[in-house]
Amino acid sequence: SPPSPRPPELQLQDVFIAVKTTRAFHRSRLELLLDTWVSRTREQVTGPHLVVTNCSAEHSHPALSCKMAAEFDAFLASGLRWFCHVDDDNYVNAKALLKLLRALPQTLDVYIGRPSLNRPIHASEPQPRNRTRLVRFWFATGGAGFCINRKLALKMSPWASGTRFVRTSALIRLPDDCTVGYIIECKLGGHLQPSSLFHSHLETLQLLGAAQLLEQVTLSYGVFEGKLNVIKLQGPFSPEEDPSRFRSLHCLLYPDTPWCPQLVAR
Ligand code: UDP
Ligand code: MN
Repeated sequence: SPPSPRPPELQLQDVFIAVKTTRAFHRSRLELLLDTWVSRTREQVTGPHLVVTNCSAEHSHPALSCKMAAEFDAFLASGLRWFCHVDDDNYVNAKALLKLLRALPQTLDVYIGRPSLNRPIHASEPQPRNRTRLVRFWFATGGAGFCINRKLALKMSPWASGTRFVRTSALIRLPDDCTVGYIIECKLGGHLQPSSLFHSHLETLQLLGAAQLLEQVTLSYGVFEGKLNVIKLQGPFSPEEDPSRFRSLHCLLYPDTPWCPQLVAR
């Protein structure tokens, strides 16, 4: 048979980026994202197509799984080539994301992100007649963001679409990001492809060097043991003006942004 035509080179328009958020954070977190990376990625983010879920506004496993299910279903309906999930305390570097995804095999199943632990997590999977089976799998930290290609996402549907994701999550009694790993590794025999380009505030973000920062796919900020855990950047904004450092980072990546201090030619 003739060779199948290669799909056109991946563009940002082919990537669906879902940002999980909750009403309480619209002011404190979402505004920052809308001012920074989302402004350069409008079409890719569910933001302009805000999906208001019926999920309860709690930080509970079922509530968060309910939101992941909504993200997944919105992706399936979009018809796009890649599903990327992030939290509302993540910065997404669109150029770095596109570079990463373009380098991945088109024809294989892909699940890529930062492994949450340095070993597989264990779960007990209920079996018929009150038995359980111990399963082990890797999963990507939701708080660092992860991506799944369409080929794999379609295979996940029997455990992930509609009301099934919440049911799967309840079955193994683990959070939404673990549930994604469980479906891919235990149900489909797939594997998490580890990437160190995704970052959550569970790591010491100050360790990233200035040059490295511009190449990371995702970054984050948060409070750890009472101290702000943020990336280390000199400026242009002070820590008081820009505690997350996202505005400063954004100005380095996109110096032509109107609210960034303009460099004066001398
Ligand atoms: N979140 C939510 N509902 C809540 C609390 C949190 O949807 O009641 C979302 C929040 O917007 C974020 C993610 O869940 O995208 C993780 O929350 P957070 O960063 O506060 O907690 P973490 O798990 O990182 O400590
Ligand atoms: Mn967080």
